[in-house]
Amino acid sequence: MSKKITIVGAGIVGIATACYLRREGHEVTVVTMHPPGEYCSFGNAGMLNNGGCVPQAVPGVLWKVPGYLTDPLGPLVVRWSYFAKGMPWMLRFLASATASQAERASIALYSLIRDTVPSYEELVKWAGTPDLVRRSGYLVAYESEKSYQGDALAWKLRRERGVRTELLDAAGIRKLVPQLAPGYVRGVHVLEQGYVANPGRLVKSLAAQFQRDGGTLLERQVLDIETVEGGVVALLTSAGRMPVETLVVCAGVHSGELTAMLGEAVPIEAERGYHVTYSDPGLQLPLPVHVSDAKVFVTPMEMGVRVAGQAEFSGIYAEPDYQRADVLETHMKRMFPQVRTTDATRWMGRRPSMPDSLPVIGPSAKQKNVFYAFGHGHLGLCAGASTGRLVADLVGGRRPAIDLTPFRINRF
Ligand SMILES: Cc1cc2nc3c(=O)[nH]c(=O)nc-3n(C[C@H](O)[C@H](O)[C@H](O)COP(=O)(O)OP(=O)(O)OC[C@H]3O[C@@H](n4cnc5c(N)ncnc54)[C@H](O)[C@@H]3O)c2cc1C
Repeated sequence: MSKKITIVGAGIVGIATACYLRREGHEVTVVTMHPPGEYCSFGNAGMLNNGGCVPQAVPGVLWKVPGYLTDPLGPLVVRWSYFAKGMPWMLRFLASATASQAERASIALYSLIRDTVPSYEELVKWAGTPDLVRRSGYLVAYESEKSYQGDALAWKLRRERGVRTELLDAAGIRKLVPQLAPGYVRGVHVLEQGYVANPGRLVKSLAAQFQRDGGTLLERQVLDIETVEGGVVALLTSAGRMPVETLVVCAGVHSGELTAMLGEAVPIEAERGYHVTYSDPGLQLPLPVHVSDAKVFVTPMEMGVRVAGQAEFSGIYAEPDYQRADVLETHMKRMFPQVRTTDATRWMGRRPSMPDSLPVIGPSAKQKNVFYAFGHGHLGLCAGASTGRLVADLVGGRRPAIDLTPFRINRF
């Protein structure tokens, strides 16, 4: 039976959800304060990698934090002014860093992102933009055998899930990516992965197809939510009151502000990342390259080449600190000394991150007509399509294809 559904958010998660629900014949309206694909989903590294099935909190992470924080080229920054505010989230994050929790999270994440490449291939074919999804492996490069060994648990978790890899020495790395600097002695070629050639255009093209298919998109901000007897009745927006029958919250890092209005506070944090995109880099990259120590991804894109990474904790609303993008450029020049950096654009985005690295997907525990799909952290692109399909299952009253228990809202 067709339902009237309102989705808050037009990032990859909200738009993928809108597409699947509309394709099932529901009357779908997306409400968003930014145009489709213009917020966090705009500038990510484009990776569609089920090798991402490793949570951020793994045993030993605590001992790495001081080194990360004191290294000016390190991947992690906590602004001092934000330290006290961010502390409760960080303590929950560190509490998740046990071997058993890492394994549970890995199993749950893999169930969500296992089919990321074929899922997007089907979606972009439907949207008429099949060129956006490219099949490739990706290379993880290490400057020493010791740093490769330092990632042993992550590789064990990936291999146990079934992620196929090939171990490379320096010569193997050179053969795969001839332009990579010679200092990398150990590599892992992660097979059967893919990437999106322009993450912003991906969301826009899906949103356009959703609208051609009869979906509605409204640009306005949700300011408050009206509830009556355990259910939502209306959104109070910057353009007035909107009655609601079924609500899906896909508002990325702002989802916590909305769940709080619904009486369901969640520990979500803005894990801010940066990118630099070079339009004329003078590089021929056959596949994405990840340097694990620096935690950067370099991805070939239709606009040139993008280097992305960094985790900065300073809240949702602080101004970007483009010194973090300078750090990415330093790593880029180290990886590819011949890169031309003249035509470059910089960007900052807010990953919606939960302390246990697992998104929230499922029904509200308090409001009878509300579903949640947010908090995908580092994996929102990989998991966007599958999340949309799962929400469509829930709204349609079908049993979801995977166990959603690890993603329930009231797990904290
Ligand atoms: C540097 C970097 C690299 C990354 N690389 C990858 C990668 O390679 N692969 C991967 O899978 N993930 C990656 N990610 C993570 C990924 O980009 C995010 O997880 C994903 O974009 C989150 O999508 P979303 O739809 O949940 O949120 P967003 O894209 O942030 O969208 C949120 C939407 O909600 C709307 N909204 C919020 N509040 C309101 C409100 N009150 N009223 C109306 N509308 C509202 C916004 O306007 C927006 O449309 C990366 C992130 C960063 C920062």
